[in-house]
Parts: sequence; C-alpha cells; structure tokens
Amino acid sequence: MISNSEEIKDATQITDILGDFITLKKKGVNYTACCPFHTEKTPSFMVNPAKGSYKCFGCGKSGDAIEFLKEHEAMSYAEALTYIAGHYNITVQSNESDTRYSDAEKHRDGIFATLKWAQDYFFKNLPKNAPALEYLQKRELDKAIGIFGIGYSISGNDLLNSAHTAGYSDNLLLSAGLI
Ligand SMILES: [Zn+2]
Repeated sequence: MISNSEEIKDATQITDILGDFITLKKKGVNYTACCPFHTEKTPSFMVNPAKGSYKCFGCGKSGDAIEFLKEHEAMSYAEALTYIAGHYNITVQSNESDTRYSDAEKHRDGIFATLKWAQDYFFKNLPKNAPALEYLQKRELDKAIGIFGIGYSISGNDLLNSAHTAGYSDNLLLSAGLI
C-alpha cells in the first residue's frame, strides 16, 4: 500500500492531470472540454479546480483526478496515485509489510507485460502476411494499422512457441487469456 497517499492527494491539481489526456478551455473559474467518456461536439464536460472535481452534464460521469485515471486510463487506485506522484516528483512510499498486495500487483504487471509483448508480436506479423495486408488496404484501413496497432495472428502454435522463446510462462499466457 502507498503510505504517503495524503501528500500526493494534497499536491494534486485536477487540471494538471486531466490536461494530460484532454484539452481544457478556461471558462470563468472553471474549465470545459469535450467529454472523453461520450461522443459530443459541444463541450458539456466541466472541471472545477477549486473542488478538484469534474462532471459531465451529457453522460453524468463525475469524480476527481484519481477517479478520472481509473475510469479513463483503466488504472488501479495505486497506479493512479503513482501516476500523480510522478507528475509532482513525489517519491511514492509503500508499506512493505503488505506482501499479499504486492504479489497480486506483480502478477498484474506480468499480465500487462505479456499482453504488451503479444501486441507487438501480432503487429510484427502483419507485414509478413501479404493477404492480410491486402485485405486491410482493400478496406482502406491502412492508416488504422499504425494508429490502433492492428496485427495478425498466425495459425497453429506460433504464438505459444514465440512466447516461450521470449521467456513468457504458460501461467502468464493463460492469465492474460492468450492461450
Ligand atoms: Zn460525457
């Protein structure tokens, strides 16, 4: 567990954190933006720096900087605090005695690393596979390949064999849902 969470929360300026992901426009004492949680053309997403909160009058989403990171970036509470701490050069202090927590967190990090590897693996397969590439070009999805990291899955055990070569365990591959 993070033991200096209060220090991190006290340092948090909501506009600093949300500003990393969305474009905020000053409006009086508040800020507005197009809501990142639903599609809209006129801004109904309001940020109140004094309260450290946001609220969308279109879809109803609301919260603080931590809630935003959890919802928008799919971060855990600890990840959100760590992200914010990094923003203000605060060193995260953790409570070492809570080992059960860090084991779970380690496993979670392992899954993310495995998925990141797999994403890269699929992406690198695509240029080697002419029919798949031609199919995407025919559907005018060339640009989407780079933007979304579209990849190609080779049939058979290629993923499994490549993962083993790269040093990823069956346990991690299973947990990540890749096999
Ligand atoms: Zn919204």
